[in-house]
Amino acid sequence: MEIAKVRQDFPILFQTVNDEPLIYLDNAATTQKPKQVISAIENYYAHDNANVHRGVHTLSERATKQYEEARETVRAFINAASTKEVLFTRGTTTSLNWVAQGFGDQVVEEGDEIYITALEHHSNLVPWQQLAKRKQARLVYLPLTEEGSVDVTAAQTVISSKGKILAVTQASNVMGTINPIKELAALIHAVGGYIVVDGAQSTPHMTVNVQQLDADFFAFSGHKMSGPTGIGVLYGKEALLEQMTPVEFGGEMIDFVYDETATWAPLPYKFEAGTPNIAGAIGLKAAIDYLNEIGMTEIQEHEHQIMRYLLPKIQEIAGITLFGPTDPEKRTGILTFNIDGVHPHDVATGFDMEGIAIRAGHHCAQPLMRHLDVHATARASFYFYNTQEEAEQFLVSLVKVKEFFT
Ligand code: PLP
Repeated sequence: MEIAKVRQDFPILFQTVNDEPLIYLDNAATTQKPKQVISAIENYYAHDNANVHRGVHTLSERATKQYEEARETVRAFINAASTKEVLFTRGTTTSLNWVAQGFGDQVVEEGDEIYITALEHHSNLVPWQQLAKRKQARLVYLPLTEEGSVDVTAAQTVISSKGKILAVTQASNVMGTINPIKELAALIHAVGGYIVVDGAQSTPHMTVNVQQLDADFFAFSGHKMSGPTGIGVLYGKEALLEQMTPVEFGGEMIDFVYDETATWAPLPYKFEAGTPNIAGAIGLKAAIDYLNEIGMTEIQEHEHQIMRYLLPKIQEIAGITLFGPTDPEKRTGILTFNIDGVHPHDVATGFDMEGIAIRAGHHCAQPLMRHLDVHATARASFYFYNTQEEAEQFLVSLVKVKEFFT
């Protein structure tokens, strides 16, 4: 990967913030978009804009073709068996809510167990809390290792024949840790349950193969992988999506509407009620094409390289608490830390004065904050367009911010 060339595709990166060159390290929240994605959306609106699936006119056929090509691109990217298994949603949050309501409501009964972990983003936690309440099921937290991934050996002793759903993130948005999805899938499948994977922080950073993982459901968001906001994906195994009921009803998702009732369109349309985010899907396709051009292995290796450089260096600085594994191979490009005695919001403000965008807060993971015994943390998250020089500047600024506040 020629990083200088890659950066030329991201116009937003070439600006100053507080008189310093912008260093964007908030990629776990959302990522920047290359020109290719911006122009795919612009081209669509400038030349092909029409509603999909309904029209026989040329523009509608063009829009439909591009929308369905986007679905095929997503299918190939995550290695789903069929485009019937790829549903376009608004993002990870919508995808997970659909599974909890459309599938969870069907398979979970009173007294059953739903497994989650303290690592989960609220999007993969609150929908399961609500399902557990609706069904009077038990929400059970799986144990974590010291480093902050799911402890498979300990999980084995917790998962029982009452287990129906195991909802888990593939990569933590706070710790950067990667969970052993395949092993967890085997555990829950052995008791006849289903695994729901939150892929929001893994899909942008590594190769995802849903069949190899044996994931029953897998959710991710376009905006975290250089695609637009407002578009995401829910993958589900075909047989399970057949069983799952739609959560939204209306146009596009019906087969026939009688006076009192209606029947549903075949997969994947049965879930996509209303006019979909056509430009979003086209933008997501352009983003995936872009990532494929660089290569997911390259992207992961680039982030590992930055972590290999930063992790030992940051540990040499006194008064910094680092969260998550110290082995760079065991994580994504997320670096969560605190400067002892300084509020993370002050830390983030200090970095902003240096032109560096990082995030501070609970990162939509309040149970994890309690698990770590902190109220909040600071988080710098790197992506493929971040350079070694930016990582070096991050360290320089870290020391400066620390000295300013302590
Ligand atoms: N899951 C994880 C691990 C995340 O990091 C996020 C976003 O921060 C989400 C889910 C929710 O994604 P979205 O806001 O795009 O629906």
